[in-house]
Amino acid sequence: KEFAEISLRDIDDIAKSSFPMCMRHLFEKLREEHHLKHGGRMQLGLFLKGVGLKLDDALAFWKAEFSRKVGAERFDKEYSYSIRHNYGREGKERCFLLFKTLQFLFMVLCVMITIKSVYFWALQDYTPYSCQKIISSTPGVGDHHGCPYRHFSEENLTAALSRMGVNSRAVGDVMNKVRNKHYQLACTLTFEAVHGSSCDSGINHPNQYFSDSQIIMKS
Ligand code: SF4
Repeated sequence: KEFAEISLRDIDDIAKSSFPMCMRHLFEKLREEHHLKHGGRMQLGLFLKGVGLKLDDALAFWKAEFSRKVGAERFDKEYSYSIRHNYGREGKERCFLLFKTLQFLFMVLCVMITIKSVYFWALQDYTPYSCQKIISSTPGVGDHHGCPYRHFSEENLTAALSRMGVNSRAVGDVMNKVRNKHYQLACTLTFEAVHGSSCDSGINHPNQYFSDSQIIMKS
């Protein structure tokens, strides 16, 4: 379920109250380092699109941070394209021209069917990553994407849990799930500890974590 809109004014508070740990970590690293590598930009950017951050706000949000590290001009040249592309804008415009040209050339060669399938593939709108996709990612050195329950050390995970306000007993339960490689169950226990409410369906998508959290916060 998508919420109509989140505003830039509220985004820090909402990140603290309703983002799952994977997105909260990326959000905090972006605020701290004013930069995220490609994997982090994709994971967080698509999540933010899914929770209702509009394209103009997304551009303003990423630009405000990246400008502090690489400058506004470089942001416009190198990074704004991929944000528009995530929202299915930039890619559509550029791909349209590119594929129209290719279409003409390939028409001569009678391979219209191939072009058509590639064309529609390129126009696809990117959707937010599921837990399964995030858990199976392989973050490298300096990356902040991935699932903390799968990719953090025990020490870092314990510290992150207590920053989220998870009490020590619940931390123990979460760590047991993590040791048995039940990462989504660990996330579900975290959700329940943070919200003081059960999550019977379990967590299977970061955007589901967000929407379930918002339902509780707004009730
Ligand atoms: Fe994010 Fe899913 Fe991992 Fe929770 S289980 S931290 S929602 S990837």
